[in-house]
Amino acid sequence: MSPITSLSRRHFLASIGASALTVPSLTDALGQPLSSQTGQDKKLGIALVGLGSYSKNQLAPALQQTQHCRLAGIVTGTPAKATEWTQKYNIPAKNVYDYKTFDRIIDNPDIDVVYVVLPNSMHAEYVIRAAQAGKHVICEKPMAITEKECQAMIDAARKANKQLAVGYRLHYEPFTQEVMRLGQQKVFGPVKFVEASDAFRIGDPSQWRMKKSMAGGGALMDVGIYAIQGARYVTGEEPVSVTAQFSPKTEPEKFKDVEETIFWQFRFPSGAVSTSTSSYTAGVERLYASCEKGWFELAPAFGYGPLKGRTSKGPIEMPVVNHQAAHMDGVCKDLLAGKTLPNHITGEEGKRDVRLLQAIYQAAETGRTIKLA
Ligand code: NDP
Repeated sequence: MSPITSLSRRHFLASIGASALTVPSLTDALGQPLSSQTGQDKKLGIALVGLGSYSKNQLAPALQQTQHCRLAGIVTGTPAKATEWTQKYNIPAKNVYDYKTFDRIIDNPDIDVVYVVLPNSMHAEYVIRAAQAGKHVICEKPMAITEKECQAMIDAARKANKQLAVGYRLHYEPFTQEVMRLGQQKVFGPVKFVEASDAFRIGDPSQWRMKKSMAGGGALMDVGIYAIQGARYVTGEEPVSVTAQFSPKTEPEKFKDVEETIFWQFRFPSGAVSTSTSSYTAGVERLYASCEKGWFELAPAFGYGPLKGRTSKGPIEMPVVNHQAAHMDGVCKDLLAGKTLPNHITGEEGKRDVRLLQAIYQAAETGRTIKLA
C-alpha cells in the first residue's frame, strides 16, 4: 500500500468534515428544522428502507463509522430482520416500521433522512412517500425505471421542501474524483476515447434483478449505469447520440425476461466517443480514457474498493475510504450545514442517467442511432 493510501479514512473524513462540525446550523438548505440536531448530537438520523444485501452488508456497517449521520431506524417487511437489527444496532422499537406503517415516520423526530434501498421498481413510491413524510431522501441507483417516475420523485421532494440524493457513492471516492479531475481538466489533453464497462456473473435466477417488472431491465440497469456515469464524468460532457446492440443470449432460459449482455456507444459534443459493455454472464470492471497526450484508467473502477488506478505517467495514489460512509457523510454534512446538495448526486442527475438507460434500450431494440441532444 502506498504512503498515501495508508492515510486512515478517519483523517480523510475528518478533514472533509471539519466545516460541518465547526459551523453547525439549526435548519437545512430550505430553512427546515433538522430534528436530530440538538445539543451535542450533530448526527442526522437515517432510516434504511429494505434490509437486503446492500443495507445489511454495506450501509449498516458503514453507518457505524460515519461522523455526520447514524442508523436511527429501519423499514422492513420481514419481522425476523426487525428483531435481528434492533438487537444488533440498538434501534428502539418506536423507530421500526413495515411498508404499511411507513408513513407514520412523519411523526418521528429521530429520523431526518430516509434511505430507499428497495428493488428498482419500488424506488419511486417510497421516495415520494418519504418526501411526503417531510424527510430528506437518499435513493439507490438506478433512481427509477422511467424518466417520468424520476420527475415525480423530484417534484415530491421539491413540494416537501426536502432534498433528494441518489446513491452515487463514487462521487465521494478519491480515485474516482482523481479521474474526474484528469479528464475534465484535460491533464493529458482532451479525452478522445473512453472504454467503460461493468459486468459480473449473476447467481440466483429467481431474484428480482432477473424480472423486468422489478428491475426495469438486466445488467444495464444494475451495473451498466456505472459505465454510463464513468463515460460522463471523465469527459465532463453529456452524450449527444447513442447506438447499442444486445448480444445473442447464451442462456436464454435464465435470461428470458432481461438482457444478458449489452454493448453501447456514446458520441460527445467534443467529438470524444465511448464504448461500453454490461453483462450478467461474465465479469469486467474498467474505466479507461485515451487522451491526446496520454491515458489513464481505473481497474477495478466501480466496486466497493479498493479501486486501483494508473496513468501513462505512473500509478494513481489516493486515500482508500469506505465508499458508503464517505457518501452518507458527504450528503449529511451538506444537509447539516444547510447547503444545497451538489448537482452530480441529486435527483436531476439520477434522471439524466435513467433517460440514457432508456435511450440505450431504444437504440438496441430499434438498431437506430438515438439522438440525445
Ligand atoms: P436485495 O434483493 O438484497 O434486497 C432488497 C430488499 O428489499 C429485500 O431484502 C427486502 O427487504 C426489500 N423488498 C421489499 N419488497 C421486495 C420484493 N417484492 N422483492 C424483493 N425485495 C423486496 O437487493 P439489494 O440490497 O442488492 O439492492 C437494493 C437496491 O440497492 C437496488 O436498487 C440496487 O440497485 C441498489 N444497490 C446499490 C449498490 C451500490 O453500490 N450503490 C449496490 C447494491 C445494490 P425487507 O425484507 O427488509 O423488506
